[in-house]
Amino acid sequence: MTDQNENNKDQEDVGLYEKIASRTADLFEEGRKTFDEALKKAKEEISSAGDYSREQADKIGEYVRRDLKANANKAKDAFIKAVEPQRLAVGAQSAFSRILSSAAGTLTDLAEKSEKLLEHKTGELTSPGTLTCKNCDAEMHLTKTVRIPPCPKCHKTIFRKSY
Ligand SMILES: [Zn+2]
Repeated sequence: MTDQNENNKDQEDVGLYEKIASRTADLFEEGRKTFDEALKKAKEEISSAGDYSREQADKIGEYVRRDLKANANKAKDAFIKAVEPQRLAVGAQSAFSRILSSAAGTLTDLAEKSEKLLEHKTGELTSPGTLTCKNCDAEMHLTKTVRIPPCPKCHKTIFRKSY
């Protein structure tokens, strides 16, 4: 694949991530669904609209789920303060803020305790936050949803995330 094709693919995936996150927030805010049900419905709607395949929606949806579960471990106020929403483009981050604002209590149940599941790897998509390389402790500060690059310092591929 050429670099240009890879860039297009990244933009398409980031767009899909933000669509799923935003639609999941809408459905969740209505209050009749659990987070998992809202995410499932959002993926179904978006893939049946035809722009994205079901496989794409499932794959990207897992990144949305993983990021949201990581966010759920943090206090709502600390999270919103840390990401400084006014500095960010609209999109996934505001969707997360809306979910956290509307149901911080419910989300406590989603909190994921396993360190392993909170690992972030090169090539995956993730929302804004700080990634710390597990090998050399170098930090990357992400201000938008991106595909995770290798560590800029040691080129390893496993990170932990904070907000
Ligand atoms: Zn490193």
